[in-house]
Amino acid sequence: MASHLQYLSGNDIRTKFLEFYAQKQHQILPSASLVPEDPTVLLTIAGMLPFKPIFLGQRQSEYKRATTSQKCIRTNDIENVGRTARHHTFFEMLGNFSFGDYFKQQAIAWGWELSTQVFGLKSENLVVSVFEDDDEAYAIWRDKIGVVEERIKRMGEDDNFWALGPTGPCGPCSEIYYDFHPERGDENIDLEDDTRFIEFYNLVFMQYNRDVEGNLTPLQNKNIDTGMGLERMAQILQQVPNNYETDLIAPIVKTAAQIAGIDYAQSDEQTKISLKVIGDHIRAVVHMIADGITASNVGRGYILRRLIRRVVRHGRLIGIQGEFTTKVAESAIALSEDAYPNVRTKATAIKNELQREEANFLKTLTKGEKLLADILAKSPTEISGKDAFILYDTHGFPLELTQEIALEHGIKVDVQGFEEEMEIQIGTSKGAHETIDLTASSLNQLASGINATQFLGYTQPSTPAQVMTLIANGQQVESAEAGSEVQVVLDQTPFYAESGGQIGDRGYLSGDSVVVAISDVKQQSGIYIHYGRIERGTLHVGDPLTAQIDRACRLRAQANHTATHLLQAALKKIVDPAISQAGSLVAFDRLRFDFNCPRPITPDELQQIEAQVNSWIAEAHHADIEIMPIAEAKAKGAIAMFGEKYGDVVRVIDFPGVSMELCGGTHVRNTAEIGVFKIVSETGISSGVRRIEAVAGAAVLDYLNVRDKVVRELSDRFKVKPEELPMRVTALQSELKTAQKQLETLKAELTLHKSETLLTEAQSIGDYKIIVAQIGEVEPDSLKIAAERLLQKIGKGAVVLGSVPEPDKVSLVAAFSPDINKKGLQAGKFVGEIAKICGGGGGGRPNLAQAGGKNASKLPEALEYARTQLKATLSQP
Ligand code: ATP
Ligand code: MG
Repeated sequence: MASHLQYLSGNDIRTKFLEFYAQKQHQILPSASLVPEDPTVLLTIAGMLPFKPIFLGQRQSEYKRATTSQKCIRTNDIENVGRTARHHTFFEMLGNFSFGDYFKQQAIAWGWELSTQVFGLKSENLVVSVFEDDDEAYAIWRDKIGVVEERIKRMGEDDNFWALGPTGPCGPCSEIYYDFHPERGDENIDLEDDTRFIEFYNLVFMQYNRDVEGNLTPLQNKNIDTGMGLERMAQILQQVPNNYETDLIAPIVKTAAQIAGIDYAQSDEQTKISLKVIGDHIRAVVHMIADGITASNVGRGYILRRLIRRVVRHGRLIGIQGEFTTKVAESAIALSEDAYPNVRTKATAIKNELQREEANFLKTLTKGEKLLADILAKSPTEISGKDAFILYDTHGFPLELTQEIALEHGIKVDVQGFEEEMEIQIGTSKGAHETIDLTASSLNQLASGINATQFLGYTQPSTPAQVMTLIANGQQVESAEAGSEVQVVLDQTPFYAESGGQIGDRGYLSGDSVVVAISDVKQQSGIYIHYGRIERGTLHVGDPLTAQIDRACRLRAQANHTATHLLQAALKKIVDPAISQAGSLVAFDRLRFDFNCPRPITPDELQQIEAQVNSWIAEAHHADIEIMPIAEAKAKGAIAMFGEKYGDVVRVIDFPGVSMELCGGTHVRNTAEIGVFKIVSETGISSGVRRIEAVAGAAVLDYLNVRDKVVRELSDRFKVKPEELPMRVTALQSELKTAQKQLETLKAELTLHKSETLLTEAQSIGDYKIIVAQIGEVEPDSLKIAAERLLQKIGKGAVVLGSVPEPDKVSLVAAFSPDINKKGLQAGKFVGEIAKICGGGGGGRPNLAQAGGKNASKLPEALEYARTQLKATLSQP
C-alpha cells in the first residue's frame, strides 16, 4: 500500500483545501443551504449551484475568486449508497471558483499543486482525464505539469463536458483520479474500473455559450468551477477501503452497529450495506432538517421522508427493534457541529422531527409488511400496479419501499401500472402542472440571453420600463395583440415578484396605445416575468412603457407581510422561542404562517398572541430597513426565512425590540399602518407542523363583513339577536335529537306492526310453526325485535327474517325455540350459512343470531333456501 501517505482527518482536509485557495486570493464563503435559491432545483447538488446566477451573468459577484465547502445532496446516487465505495446522497464538495478571472492553465496548476504538495499524493498515483477535443488541457497536463501521455485519458462528452442547461454557459472538464494500483502498469488504464481508480477532483472550464441550435461561441468572461469530494479525499488519505470507513462517517456506522448489537468488521456484505445506508442517510437527514426541511409528501419534504424511512427500514434489516434514529443522529450531529454549527443549534428540532417520522413509519411498516407478505404469497412473480397503489394510497406504503422489498424477494413491481393508477387518481390536476412547465422551460431557454430585471419597487410605485422579452402561448414573440395572455420581461420594474411567501403585485403596463393588465409576477434567477393580458392595442418587444402597480393591493400585501413577522415574534414570545417558520403565504386578502410545533396552540395562547400583535401595532413601531453583510445580520440575531437562500448581502427588516428578520418582501414603514390584526384559524397541516391563518389591515374589514353578513342572515332567519344565536342553535339541536328518537321508536313500532301480519303466514310442520319472510327496509335492530316477538307468538318453531335497510346491504336474523336446537339446528350457524348466498356472513347464539350481506337481489333465494332447510329438518321424525 501507499505508506507514504500522511493521515489527515476530514476536518483537516476541509481546512487545508480552503486555506490553500485563500492563500491564492480566494474569498472563503460559507456553505449555502441545501435548499437552493433556484426554484427549479430541489436541493443543492454541487458547489457551483449557489453561483449559478453569476455564471449566467444575472448577478455580479463581489469577488473574482471564491472557495467553499458546500453541503450537497444527490438523490440520483441513492441506489449507489453502500454499494459503491464512493457514492453518498449527502457529501461535501470542496470547490474553487473563478468568475471571469483565472482560467484553465492556472486551475490545472493549482489543482495539481494542491493534490501533490498539500495532500502529498504521488504523481505515479495520479491519472487525469480531459475532454476528447480539448487539446489545450491535454497540452497543459503534458507540457506544463509533466504528466506522462499514458496517464492522460481523453474522454467523451458524457463524462467530460459540462453544461448549466441545454443552452447557456458550458465547457470541457478535466478530472483527477487516484490510482490505488499503479503497479498494474500504464498500458491498460480503464478509468471506469473502480477497484483501481477513484475520481476525486473535477475541474470545469466554462468557456463557451451554447445557443438554441447547439452552436458554441467562446465566452468573453471564462469561468472556473471545480469540485473535490471531501469524503473521497479522506478515503485516499486515511487509506481505508471506502468513504464509509473514514472518520467522517465511521463513528455513525459504529453507533448503529452497537445499537444492533453487531460488529461492522465481522458483518456480511448485506449487513454492511445496511450500516452504510444508515451512516449516509442520517447525515443527509440531519443537514436537511437543520436547513429547515420537514418531512412531507411532496418535493424536498418527500425526499427527507424517504431517506428517514430507508434508515428505519435498514435498521430493521440488521435487527434493530424499536426507535433508534435519534441516537445515530446525535452521532452525526457531533461529527458535523464544528463545521456546521446549525446542526447543534437545531439538534432538538432534528430529533423531534426524526422521532415523529420514525414512530409513524414504524406503524405503517408493521402493517404494510404484513399486507405485502399476503400479496407476495398470492402473486409470487410480480406485484401488480394496483396492489402497489393500494399499499401506497390506503396504507401509506411508499412505492420505493415496495420495490425494495420486492427486489429482496427477486421479483418486480409493475411500476407503469402503479403510475396509471396514480394518474387516474390525480385526474384533472395534471393539466395545471403542464401549463406551468411550458412557461418554465421556455424561460429556461431564454434565461441565458436576458439580464436580471432591476427591481425599483421598494421605493417607487411606478417607473418607466422597456419590453425586453415577450412570450405568448409559451412561445417567444416579437409582438402580441389585444386579448392575448402574455408574459413580459422588462428592463426594470416596480412590481414585486412572488417570493418569500409574498405574492406578486398587480397593476398595469401602459404605452402610447397599449395597456396590459398585470395579474401576477414571478421571478426566476432575478428575471421578473409579468403575467398579464393585453387589454388594448398591440405590444412589441422594445416598446417603452410605464409600469405601475396597484397601490391598494400593495398596501394590503405590506400590512399582511409585516403582520406575519409580528405573528412569528409573538409565537416565539408566548409559546416557545424554538418555534421556527416552515412556510408562509402573504396575499392581498390574508396571510398564512406555517411553523414547527409538536402540539396545537391553545385557544388561550391564540388570544394572547392576537392581543400581543395588536398592541405592537398600536405602539407604532418604526421599521429600520437596512442592507448589510449576512454575517452582521446573523450576529444581530435576525431570523432567516425558511426556504430562502441569501446572498452575501441581505436585507434586514427590523422593528427594533419587536422583530428582526431577513426578508426581501415589502413592508409597512410603521406598524401603526397595519391598523388591526385578527387570527382566523389554527390547524395542523402535517405531523409537527401547524398553520395559523390570519388577516391584517384592510383585509380584516373584508373578513368581518363576510362574517357579519352570515350572522345577520342567521339572526333574521331565527328571529333572535346575534348574541342569542348559540342558545337558539343548542335548543334546535336538542329538539332535533328528541324528534329523531321519536322517529326511531315509531319505525320500530311500525316494523312490529308489519310483522304481526306475518303471523297469518306461519307455516305448520308437525307441531312446529315456521315464519320465513322478507320485510321492507327495516334496520337490523328492529328486525331482531320483530323476530323475537314473532317467535314468542308462535311458541315452538323458527323465525327467519330478511330486509334491505339500504341499497347493497342485506340484514338477516334467525330466532329458534329450544326445540329447534334439539333438532340439531343452531341459529348462529344457520343464519351464517344463508348470509353467504347474499355475499356476506355472520353468526351468534344458538337461539338468536344476526348476519349481513351485500347482494340484495339474492335475498329471496337465500330465504327460499332457509325455508327448504327448515322444512327438511323439521319434517324428520
Ligand atoms: P462519479 O462519476 O464518481 O459519480 P461525478 O462525475 O458524478 O462522480 P462530479 O459531478 O464531477 O462527480 O462532482 C465533483 C466531485 O464531487 C467528484 O469528483 C467527487 O469527488 C464528488 N462527488 C460526486 N458525486 C458524489 C457522491 N454521490 N458522493 C460523494 N462524492 C461525490
Ligand atoms: Mg455521479
